[in-house]
Amino acid sequence: VRLIALLLTLGLAFAQYENRLLVGSSEFGAIYPGGGRVAYGPAQDIARVLGLGYLEASGKVYLSLGAKVAVFSISSQGYDALRYRNAYRWRAEAWVPVRELAKNLELYYRIDYGAPVIALNPARLLEMQRVDAGGGLRYIIRFDRDVQARVITPNRIALIGVNSVPDVAPDSPISFSQESWGAEIQLPESTQPSLLFLPRQLVIDYPGTAQRRVVLDPGHGGGDTGVSVSGLSEKDLVLSVAKRLEKLLKAKGLEVIMTRNRDTAVPLKARAQYASSTDIFISLHAVPGDRVQIYSYPEVQTLRLIEKGRDLFLKTPEAQQAVLGRYVAAPGAATQFANSISENLASAGVVANVSQDAVYVLSQSGAAAVLMESGIERLRTPQARDQIANALAQSVYAYLGLEQPAPGGTR
Ligand SMILES: [Zn+2]
Repeated sequence: VRLIALLLTLGLAFAQYENRLLVGSSEFGAIYPGGGRVAYGPAQDIARVLGLGYLEASGKVYLSLGAKVAVFSISSQGYDALRYRNAYRWRAEAWVPVRELAKNLELYYRIDYGAPVIALNPARLLEMQRVDAGGGLRYIIRFDRDVQARVITPNRIALIGVNSVPDVAPDSPISFSQESWGAEIQLPESTQPSLLFLPRQLVIDYPGTAQRRVVLDPGHGGGDTGVSVSGLSEKDLVLSVAKRLEKLLKAKGLEVIMTRNRDTAVPLKARAQYASSTDIFISLHAVPGDRVQIYSYPEVQTLRLIEKGRDLFLKTPEAQQAVLGRYVAAPGAATQFANSISENLASAGVVANVSQDAVYVLSQSGAAAVLMESGIERLRTPQARDQIANALAQSVYAYLGLEQPAPGGTR
């Protein structure tokens, strides 16, 4: 009886997959929500196999290829999913309409013996330029389509799906190697680069050591007060912390850019632009209570900004792409930075949680981006705001290697 029950369960499970789905050279099952004729595939598996950026948050699933982003709202009803070409939540996974995805990201798509096939189109590297950029170095690479890239190590960049690269002279400091998943480019640099995705272009930025830049982003401003608790406004308190931090960092010779330094509204687009080329990005917010939370994954911040700028997000795909392209950082760097803030706060007696949601990284770059939410009670007095600013400053110094070892310290 148990065997039959097991077989029945398996039979039912398999019956849900109504077709085969080929993703690159891997095979998955396709489903047809709402009894329609639209094939859906597992979003995360597709992203993994094709090397796409993947993010699921706030009821939406995002898949990206270079500067291109496909966004689907997630429906839990098959009929709704079908009707609006939304993603479909099935068995705790997000499933996306395959043809729609292919169209949005310009992927290869066809029906082969009745089964959908989705794959990366081959990409050619057309041209590469090396530019001096204010003490730093910048490589601009042009392709014949959008290309997803990842930092493997500071001098090795993966160009996913690129199967045609130019010849380089044997004595060139730049070299390429062809891999099964695409091409790898080896560069002579050793500092952590940041990647910027533009249409059919990848910019690899190696910041100059002389110019270390920190962007401070006090949340809200102007008519947008943020959280208000008994006469305290988030917009004022976070600006106060940011100004204290700015002073500390400038005293160390760092270049500091404030997304706002007075009580004014800052559009999402502007905040995103400020963050486009920086070593560190710190967004400051407050929440009711006294809890301190540091979000180390840049996606969280990206989405919060996007959610706040929903109109902009819906209206201008370029702005949306700019945000997604620019607000991405290497998870290692951001997490390391967030943990360091948490440690520095702990030594000042403040407990801060570091949030590490296991979301697949959209992409990788060198900037460490964090969003810190402080309980508003923690920001009540000027001394408390100094304490937070100090902890943040120590983490910035440590991250940029400017830390002077404490006399008699253990490390
Ligand atoms: Zn806020």
